[in-house]
Amino acid sequence: MDALLELYNGMGISPAVYHYGQQVLEKLAPRFAEIDRVAEYNQAKVLAAMQKNRVSAACFAGTTGYGYDDVGRDTLEKVYADVFHTEAALVRPQITCGTHALTVALSANLLPGDELLSPVGMPYDTLQEVIGIRQSPCSLAEYGVSYRQVDLLPDGSFDYDGIRRAIGEKTKLVTIQRSKGYASRPSFSVEQIGELIAFCKSVKPGVLVMVDNCYGEFVETIEPSDVGADMTVGSLIKNPGGGLAPVGGYICGTQECVSRCGYRLSAPGLGQEVGANLGLMQALYQGFFLAPTVVAGAEKGAIFAANLYEPLGFPCIPSADAPRYDIIQSVALGSEAGMLAFCRGIQAAAPVDSFATPLPWDMPGYSDQVIMAAGAFVQGSSIELSADGPIREPYAVYFQGGLTWAHAKLGILMSLQKLVDDGLAAL
Ligand SMILES: *Cc1c(COP(=O)(O)O)cnc(C)c1O
Repeated sequence: MDALLELYNGMGISPAVYHYGQQVLEKLAPRFAEIDRVAEYNQAKVLAAMQKNRVSAACFAGTTGYGYDDVGRDTLEKVYADVFHTEAALVRPQITCGTHALTVALSANLLPGDELLSPVGMPYDTLQEVIGIRQSPCSLAEYGVSYRQVDLLPDGSFDYDGIRRAIGEKTKLVTIQRSKGYASRPSFSVEQIGELIAFCKSVKPGVLVMVDNCYGEFVETIEPSDVGADMTVGSLIKNPGGGLAPVGGYICGTQECVSRCGYRLSAPGLGQEVGANLGLMQALYQGFFLAPTVVAGAEKGAIFAANLYEPLGFPCIPSADAPRYDIIQSVALGSEAGMLAFCRGIQAAAPVDSFATPLPWDMPGYSDQVIMAAGAFVQGSSIELSADGPIREPYAVYFQGGLTWAHAKLGILMSLQKLVDDGLAAL
């Protein structure tokens, strides 16, 4: 037995699962090489922005209290703005998560009487309460912001006629979600998003467009902000935090939109001038620096998972050979037992809490019970190897992350092992 197999075997992976994995990997070399080329480009892009803005050790100094004249915070925002090619950026540990960043972007730029339009179907679960699609205290609906939605056509493409009809007098802001989230639709390429933005702006010049960029950062060499988005929004415990950011969110966009976000996040009159960095700057810079390669590793894991599971009869979105626009891989396991086994495998392969057993629970912001496997250094971080999904048809797990490709590979093999052990998959 080779040394790696022996080590894996000691951790619970059988020779049969290991060899099946190796066989799957053989044909993936050209795709992995392409991912490495994208990572190299994005690494240079981040480096150039850090150099241009003269990042120095002084930027890592912690600040407290009001955080006036916080050089580290202000420079980091310039670095983000340069990478996303925007006029301005708001990048803060005070933004608690992705949902919060999106909420700030929406509530800062929508006023009573305005209408919000989603031309790509139902938004991500937690956004439904933010908008008021599911009634909730302090939703946009409560503040008099109405909402309209145009679903995707059955083939997953944009319903341009429907969108033209839906854009009206009141339409102020269009929200586009890049990644599929917990839905079974394809994720969109930045190019597709650009076409949709151009269309919306041709129907109504001046309409604002926000893109929910969660899980999409650095998967391609361009971002939604390169194709006309007024605000590009995401979470630092996903791609751009590179696994090192312990908290935070970002909004990159036009000066006007981002300034309003600053006023919404802190207070009118204060805006971006306040907000101490609490000593988190080194993690936010270093994580952003690592993010392109971390994302590449996670993407390799997603492709490996699809190529491992699809031939065994489990439908995968994206499918094994499909192009990738985010780091999410969904695998439909067909039963709750399958979801549990998959998540047990991911958990068992984790560096932290590997001894825990994930179980479904009622998570705030979600309408169905959700199961989550995450043995993460940062709680809930889904750029780290993780799997989750709502307990509902088609019993799909959404698998993502892995700070290193080797860890992603081990976790995916372990997930398959648990399914094989429970008689839910056969090689
Ligand atoms: C994760 C995610 C969010 C919400 O982010 P949280 O950090 O979990 O609040 C919003 N939209 C999409 C598409 C996501 O994947």
